[in-house]
Amino acid sequence: MRLIVLGPPGAGKGTQSARLMQKYGIPQLSTGDMLRAAVAAGTPVGREAKALMDAGSLVPDDVVLKIIADRIEQPDAVQGFILDGFPRTVNQAKALDALLKAKNMRLDGVIELKVDEAALLGRIQARAEDMIARGCAVRADDNPDAFKTRLDAYRAQTAPVSAYYAGEGRLKSVDGMAPVEAVAAAIDLVTSAFAMT
Ligand code: ADP
Repeated sequence: MRLIVLGPPGAGKGTQSARLMQKYGIPQLSTGDMLRAAVAAGTPVGREAKALMDAGSLVPDDVVLKIIADRIEQPDAVQGFILDGFPRTVNQAKALDALLKAKNMRLDGVIELKVDEAALLGRIQARAEDMIARGCAVRADDNPDAFKTRLDAYRAQTAPVSAYYAGEGRLKSVDGMAPVEAVAAAIDLVTSAFAMT
């Protein structure tokens, strides 16, 4: 099963992708997590990405494309994967299509989490408070200023990705405002339909 989970920052992509990973036994490939690991490790990619990420801006397409191209070659991704946070631009989506085609891999479908924008900042703030309560580090971009930039980037660059997949009949939208379990159930319905096509 090869899936993409799309949605604005704070929509619950990470939560739902982690559950799908358990369910299907395939890895969750989060470009955000991979980039944060590169930043923490101080690699050249991490050094290039850090300031952009902290501000809430997107990292250049060529950087994330290389990360994804390398990652989907890994043995654990042979049976499938869940892409979380990628593609984030139409250019990335087209490059992914070319990459999968070259590898004879097929995308099963794209799940979009629909969430009211008004709810998103509250979710991000709740995540920051939860991290503090657990004694963990808060993400550098989980603050109101960077969040605004992330939302702007989403509207300008990532919302067209939904339109791109919808145009090709590959997109299924799910109500991301429902409780986590209800969102999970709706996603299960959609993925079982993907599995049959
Ligand atoms: P969010 O919760 O905002 O969806 P992520 O953890 O997916 O956050 O990503 C955090 C940051 O990492 C983004 O704001 C961006 O700077 C960078 N990033 C992650 N994925 C991509 C991508 N596919 N293209 C460009 N930048 C990305």
